[in-house]
Amino acid sequence: MDNRRFPPWLKRPLAHEGRQGQVSGVIAECRLNTVCAEAKCPNRGECFSKGSAAFLILGPVCTRNCAFCGVASGAPNPIIDTNEGTRLAEAACRMGLNHVVITSVTRDDLPDGGAAVFADAVSSVRDKIPEATIEVLIPDFQGSTDSLKTVLDSRPNVLNHNMETVSRLYPQIRPQAAYGRSLELIKRAADDGRSIVKSGIMVGLGETPDEVYELMRDLRSAGCGVITVGQYLRPSAEQTPVAEFITPEQFNKYQEIALNIGFTKAFCGPYVRSSYRADEFL
Ligand code: SF4
Repeated sequence: MDNRRFPPWLKRPLAHEGRQGQVSGVIAECRLNTVCAEAKCPNRGECFSKGSAAFLILGPVCTRNCAFCGVASGAPNPIIDTNEGTRLAEAACRMGLNHVVITSVTRDDLPDGGAAVFADAVSSVRDKIPEATIEVLIPDFQGSTDSLKTVLDSRPNVLNHNMETVSRLYPQIRPQAAYGRSLELIKRAADDGRSIVKSGIMVGLGETPDEVYELMRDLRSAGCGVITVGQYLRPSAEQTPVAEFITPEQFNKYQEIALNIGFTKAFCGPYVRSSYRADEFL
């Protein structure tokens, strides 16, 4: 968490215990990772207490080193866990999820970037819980159309790829990613037409509102239908500091403009994350 003092709108009561123990138990028994824990998400108390979590497949170690991200970076285990999708489906079933969010670390070391493991996880969940909707939050697969097609062919209900920040800040915030490459992925997914296409960004990294509006227009031009905008909060002292705490009024403005330019859904607020209450818009 950032060492700067939080403004009043970021202070909130501690989440109730609720189903936290059950969720943590199922995840541990099924030997799964969650982005909630690995990225030190500030919402995990609330989400776990309500029985939800976002699964992180392909291991807890990422081949990239984005300046905002709390997930460990380094050399992942090269051995792919071929049973992960089955255990994920089992966990989702035991948790009673009606909307299953599956994301991964970036695996630039794998020829397909892990796309086949995504597709297997989607199929496993669909077999186990046919009534559940499935959302995948995918990396950019280094621009591979084949990898994107592998994931789209598994027919997730929602295809999410986060732009994360505005174009100007890519070199310092996402040095191994490319703004145009991520936009192109979103365009290809939207052109495919089989999944709802969604993207998310963090604000408070030093961007200007005009840059955010430009990003929103780029996403709409690419065919993206749903957007999330949330406050960047530093996961630990190792990540880039918060540049600014965005006010609730500015979040309201982002939401209003996003809807005005044609997003069917826009979720903008300090604690919004791309997987936060992800089931609510379906
Ligand atoms: S917002 Fe997403 S990543 Fe954070 S705790 Fe909730 S489900 Fe997990």
